Amino acid sequence: MLLTAKTEQASFRINIKKLRMEIAMSEKINIPDHYRRWEADIKIGKKEDHVTIGYWRDGCKGCGICVDVCPKQVWEIIEAKDKWNGQVVQVTDAAKCIKCMLCEVHCPDFCIKIY
Ligand code: SF4
Ligand code: SF4
Repeated sequence: MLLTAKTEQASFRINIKKLRMEIAMSEKINIPDHYRRWEADIKIGKKEDHVTIGYWRDGCKGCGICVDVCPKQVWEIIEAKDKWNGQVVQVTDAAKCIKCMLCEVHCPDFCIKIY
């Protein structure tokens, strides 16, 4: 059966949407098991969303960059006797996250994943 140009365009758009959703889902599944996770339903402006914050404690060197760059004070430094500088970070309240990704892109050791 021959498709009209409009039908082809519509089916192309549906396929792109499907592909994007599949990528998002596979990325979610790909948060490694050894990452600690915090999850929360959030609101960004008027839009409802959900965030998963993944954090790899073993790789974290407690530099505090994520704490400094987060505009919503989602991260805090806590004591960790097993670390060379005596500290790591943790999430205070995932519900405050706005998924800006600043913490993920600035972490020098790839310890944070935001989905
Ligand atoms: S930026 Fe990365 S390495 Fe530094 S404290 Fe945050 S999670 Fe740890
Ligand atoms: S994504 Fe943005 S708001 Fe959320 S924890 Fe990271 S820096 Fe903070």
